[in-house]
Amino acid sequence: MHPFTYTRVADIRGALNAGRAGGRYIAGGTTLVDLMRETVERPGTLVDISGLPLDEVTVTERGGLRIGALVTMAEAAAHSKVRTLYPVVSQALELSASAQLRNMATIGGNIMQRTRCTYFRDVTADCNKREPGSGCAAREGVNRTHAILGTSDACVATHPSDVAVAFAALEARVHLLGPDGNRQVPFADFLLRPGTTPQREQAIRRGELITAVEIPALPRPLRSGYLKVRDRQSYEFALTSAAIALHVRGGVIREAKVAAGGVGTVPWKLPAVERHLVGERPSESLWAAAAEKAASGAHPLQQNGFKVELLKRTVERQLRIVGGTK
Ligand code: SF4
Repeated sequence: MHPFTYTRVADIRGALNAGRAGGRYIAGGTTLVDLMRETVERPGTLVDISGLPLDEVTVTERGGLRIGALVTMAEAAAHSKVRTLYPVVSQALELSASAQLRNMATIGGNIMQRTRCTYFRDVTADCNKREPGSGCAAREGVNRTHAILGTSDACVATHPSDVAVAFAALEARVHLLGPDGNRQVPFADFLLRPGTTPQREQAIRRGELITAVEIPALPRPLRSGYLKVRDRQSYEFALTSAAIALHVRGGVIREAKVAAGGVGTVPWKLPAVERHLVGERPSESLWAAAAEKAASGAHPLQQNGFKVELLKRTVERQLRIVGGTK
């Protein structure tokens, strides 16, 4: 591990000053410390923000939910409002990492986490994300778990977060506070596709602090859930996943929110699937036809072509579960 200085801040102003000076924010530390041990990350200064008052879950005036950036994954998953209003969020959190990690890791840290591509974490391998211009060892290497959607010549790594898939489906907004004040970024714009700059992963500016993630109010009743398909049943990243929320009234689907994980360089919203569902009556044939659209635009690599069919089946199965026709 490279040498670094550590400072703990007591208030938001202190955090912003330290961030503006180039410090890296740390709270649970479950991703950053790992990467520092592997010398992938080499921050000069760590700014411990774990004491800031950003640890509440509140219902917004319009009936949405605001989850503070320092709420732990375990706290968010267990929160009564999260469980009742957006079970898809609770389920995504509970299917992530281990219980020990969920007790430490925060919501803000979760959406800032970096890819699990093994070449990214191996400092002897070529990796454009870690070292721009060095190449991408995964393109011709072991790429069974890599992305089939949103890839570029520079990078084909998946985004590892589960709850980010639920946030993408629900069209959450990220609240940021920085030297220029508050701003909100739609979740779809917060995580960046690799393009020619895979080292840039979030639309966050120097010194900005994530203060919360806000999920908008959605019509009720709303059924939602998260399905994760992986090589083993626990402590494993998704091969494919599906976050789905449906509002059905009078026997007709009025709203559909659908996103997939494990397949994209960012959580992958599926608007074609959503459009196919809205205005229709739930049925087995509808789920199958909608899921058929889940993988459109996919570009599989040598070893991960199986994800195309697996993604469709994951979406279809979760539509059946959430839609109530299983
Ligand atoms: Fe690096 Fe991305 Fe290639 Fe992995 S897929 S080696 S993270 S550039």
